[in-house]
Amino acid sequence: MNNLAFKFLGKLLIEADLKCITALHIGGTQEGYEIGGMDNPVIKTATRIEVNGFTIPADCPYIPGSSLKGKMRSLLEWALGRVKIDKEGGNYRGKLCECGEGDCPVCVTFGVSAKTEVKAGPTRLTVLDAFPTEETIKSWESDMGEGIFTEIKTENYIDRLSSQANPRSMERVPAGSVFKTRMIYTLYRDTDIDMLKNIFLAMEILEDSTLGGSGSRGSGRVEFGNFDIRFRSKLYYTENAPELSVNLNVDGKKLNSSREIKETFDKVFGEVKKIIKDINQSENV
Ligand SMILES: [Zn+2]
Repeated sequence: MNNLAFKFLGKLLIEADLKCITALHIGGTQEGYEIGGMDNPVIKTATRIEVNGFTIPADCPYIPGSSLKGKMRSLLEWALGRVKIDKEGGNYRGKLCECGEGDCPVCVTFGVSAKTEVKAGPTRLTVLDAFPTEETIKSWESDMGEGIFTEIKTENYIDRLSSQANPRSMERVPAGSVFKTRMIYTLYRDTDIDMLKNIFLAMEILEDSTLGGSGSRGSGRVEFGNFDIRFRSKLYYTENAPELSVNLNVDGKKLNSSREIKETFDKVFGEVKKIIKDINQSENV
């Protein structure tokens, strides 16, 4: 397959709520913290930012798109049998897929590091940073105080050699917090729409895994819901055609989980497929 096989067909904008079922710890930098201060801070915004008409304050926890994307990629690689196990110095290590092949769902969707020739084409998935919802910020402030967005948990680590207790503090986002995730999936081949299914598969597996640190101690359980999916075809950009709001009501029921969307995938994305086919046909005459 040569590069001419790729052409811009449109973008799917996927929005969903990511709810923290347990507290969440995605590590930030310790810079700026005094000695004797927090051992394990969470990552926070450096300045105030506007996101969709709403102001996210400075020092506000968020989920970097790269953290979410990296976790989804890794889970998908295991699920699809794309992890290579290598033996290095007596240790077995899982190596991420770097095949770059055009039919590899992982490389096509999540991309590969710089390579001279990549048959997979441009990376399809972009995961934006996820910021807390307005309601979540309000509930943090009413529960913990103005400008306080996190809780501190002190854990006792037992040194397995000396049996000595070693107290350590960890900053976490409280359970129940909701972050707005935004993903953009760009279509460059008509078959790309079928690979989109893997995104919902990865989200589903993530719900039975953990995000961020301290997962073995119960942190980082998350759940996706409140989906909103829109399709902007190439013609949306070039001809001012309207965007398509993907109908998530199937058989009188609103689909509200990644599993439900995955199960009814062909029905949900049937209209998008038709638009892509029409664009392809009109360009091939
Ligand atoms: Zn691959």
